[in-house]
Amino acid sequence: MVVTPHPDDAEYGVAGTVARWTIEGKRVIYVVCTSGDKGTSDINKKPEEVVRTREQEQTAAAKLLGVCEVVFLRHPDQGLEDTPEFRKEIVRLIRMYRPEVVVTADPYRRYVWHRDHRITGQVTLDAVFPYARDHLSYPDLLEEGLMPHKVKEILFWASEDINHRSDITDTFDIKFAALRRHKSQVEYLNNPEGEKRLRERYQSLAEGEDFELAEAFHRVQIFR
Ligand SMILES: [Zn+2]
Repeated sequence: MVVTPHPDDAEYGVAGTVARWTIEGKRVIYVVCTSGDKGTSDINKKPEEVVRTREQEQTAAAKLLGVCEVVFLRHPDQGLEDTPEFRKEIVRLIRMYRPEVVVTADPYRRYVWHRDHRITGQVTLDAVFPYARDHLSYPDLLEEGLMPHKVKEILFWASEDINHRSDITDTFDIKFAALRRHKSQVEYLNNPEGEKRLRERYQSLAEGEDFELAEAFHRVQIFR
């Protein structure tokens, strides 16, 4: 399960790894917390138009990657808060889909880091442990038949403390194509210089490994 603050963050953070997983036959679910309604520099665009475009783009990108379901939570862009309601929403989804691995933004990146990214990472971490695990956390969810669930590991993208690199050499092209589905956000990828810069970024993340391109994470194993 990938929990992403905005449309496109997951494609930067983990799409190459997601493509590898789906090729291997694993099921991947996207949870998109906001629909990026502030993500435009066009002063004439209404937020609902932006939402429509960005959800379409996210759905197209996910489809290309073989993601089997995309859940839009539709919180306001730049409006995520660490609330009991948001946490419970994520717990509910974890108990419904019962993922082995959860991937999200690292909440502990310092200084200039989008508040929505920090909050998404924090709330998701808390939802995984301990709230999704403990049956007494939400007796009402239990009554609905949503049993507790132990996630085995969490991967945080954009971490300053990388301890896990995932080989995306063979899936970089799919990642790149998925990123390009976010047409309204990634105009810079239309020129070769943009593609080159992007490739270099994932090359540098593979430094020290015996593969060429990587996505890099802080990995936390919770239950073995
Ligand atoms: Zn974002």
